Amino acid sequence: MKVELARTAGFCMGVTRAMEMALEAARSGLRPLYTLGPLIHNRQAVSALEAEGIRIAEDPEEVPPGAGVIIRAHGVRPEVRRALESRGARIIDATCPHVLASQRRIAEQSAAGASVIIVGDRDHAEIRGLVGHARGPVAVVGSVDELAATALPPPLCIIAQTTFSESTYGAIVAEARRRFPGITVFESICSSTEDRQREIRDLSERVNAVVVVGGRHSANTLRLAELARFSGKPVVHVESAAELDLSALAGVRLVGVTAGASTPSWVIGEVVDKLAASEAP
Ligand code: SF4
Repeated sequence: MKVELARTAGFCMGVTRAMEMALEAARSGLRPLYTLGPLIHNRQAVSALEAEGIRIAEDPEEVPPGAGVIIRAHGVRPEVRRALESRGARIIDATCPHVLASQRRIAEQSAAGASVIIVGDRDHAEIRGLVGHARGPVAVVGSVDELAATALPPPLCIIAQTTFSESTYGAIVAEARRRFPGITVFESICSSTEDRQREIRDLSERVNAVVVVGGRHSANTLRLAELARFSGKPVVHVESAAELDLSALAGVRLVGVTAGASTPSWVIGEVVDKLAASEAP
């Protein structure tokens, strides 16, 4: 089978930076060392970090006093940071600079008296962190319908999760501008996400099927699979080459491969090799 690998597949800047900061801390001998939640939504990468002595704490209370703790690229609520500081943790802040910029905008807008509409997945860690930076009225919406059910006092601003779908955000912003004239709009979807989403739209038109590689809990990976499905072609989402069932791609001559921002290059490489080694129809 012929394989076309997306140029944008794999680690983004924020994930690469967080991984490098974690490995540097581990190799400096800082122990015990934790990440607050899995550093990235990828089991293979988490196992690689465990092998370096990095454990996962789900809550600040699980971090022993004096331990090192890495804040992941999604960022955290200010209360979480304060809880870590009060335990005497040595904080390594790997919050992605794009997420930090959104946190600052929300804090500034709130401090200036604006209500904040955050567009994203309510249960995602980045969103919980962003909500925590609001000091006044705030609402999380994921669709135009949810926006319609939102009532917040003016003035208003609207901002998106950094990995949200560009097209859905565009539709929500258009409706927000109609309902709330004068609303301040922030373009907060990161360029890495935009490039990846644009590429999968083009790629899925050219190929006979798409394989998306990435964690089942990775929001940006799920979004890529969702975008690829718009092409009407078969789409297979796997976490690793071991999961890849080639029979699902029977008859496919050219397969496109993309991967989420938290998928390690070695995992992508194994999937590409398995596809490339399979018989062409
Ligand atoms: S997807 Fe974008 S915002 Fe999220 S960690 Fe990567 S670079 Fe940062």
